[in-house]
Amino acid sequence: MSNKFDDIIGQELIKSFLLTSIRRGKVSHAYVIEGDKGMGKKLIANTFAAYLVCDGKSSCGVCESCRLSSGGSHPDIITVLPEKKQIGVDDIRQVIKSISIKPYMADKKVVIIPDADGITKEAQNALLKVLEEPPEYVVFIILIQNAELLLDTILSRVMKLSLTPYTEADVKKVLGGESALIAASENNIGKALALSGDETYLEMRDNCLHQIENLIGTNQICIFDTVNFFEKNKDESGKILDIMLAFFRDIVFIKLGQKDLLGNKDKTESLVRLAEKTELFGAFKATQYITEAQKMHSRNVNYGILITALSNGCWEVLNGRNSRSSF
Ligand SMILES: [Zn+2]
Repeated sequence: MSNKFDDIIGQELIKSFLLTSIRRGKVSHAYVIEGDKGMGKKLIANTFAAYLVCDGKSSCGVCESCRLSSGGSHPDIITVLPEKKQIGVDDIRQVIKSISIKPYMADKKVVIIPDADGITKEAQNALLKVLEEPPEYVVFIILIQNAELLLDTILSRVMKLSLTPYTEADVKKVLGGESALIAASENNIGKALALSGDETYLEMRDNCLHQIENLIGTNQICIFDTVNFFEKNKDESGKILDIMLAFFRDIVFIKLGQKDLLGNKDKTESLVRLAEKTELFGAFKATQYITEAQKMHSRNVNYGILITALSNGCWEVLNGRNSRSSF
């Protein structure tokens, strides 16, 4: 039996991103997968690990590595099982010891750290040391419900992936639960909105698309336009973040060659044009920043600071700068 990303329902964006990283040889040495309990963090981590150790990097299901990983006994996939309730420094020391030995079969050694929410500070500091100079064959996958529990110094050295469902429920949220419309829209937000005839929403959606176009402009001055847009529409900021997230996801899907997954199919032409102007990594980062912003927004973080940091961060990553934003 093979572990394929295709067999996992939902999380299309993250699955495609990880697959593309493997195909392009751009696997990071550390990932943090953030998401609530039951969202499938472990399943994604185990599946990703299976691809990484497979002879053909495809989770073929036939090679010896695949046979072992599907049975949960691949020697190059290490899952940390804490001695006590929380992951402590001894657990991390154990990990450091085992990764000092080169992989047995694969060209990667994958360390999965599940339930990292309770990880002690001492353990984090030990982990940080390895993340600063990891052996080139190691890939860490840290699973956590709230990544804010990790030290900033750790977060700055990992690729953070926040699980975000984009399902019928998202469409429902937009339409207020009109099931007939949702069915007719085939989970296509653009189509659903057109059907529902919500003029103000459609207008807001066009404005959001315009703001994304603005942020993919090379002149940094354009950030002010986006900040102004957020200021002017403060009452609808939740809606704006939802719309922008859906657009950025679509841009990522286009970059991944998966137009069939677009949520805003009616805007395909504009989105393809925008996708040509930015890189996969930047667009993907933008989706993560918006997800962060949504969380902070719901916690009543100062709005002005939030939207300025968001606009700046998005502009930087969309234009190929290394963002120093705290997102
Ligand atoms: Zn295989």
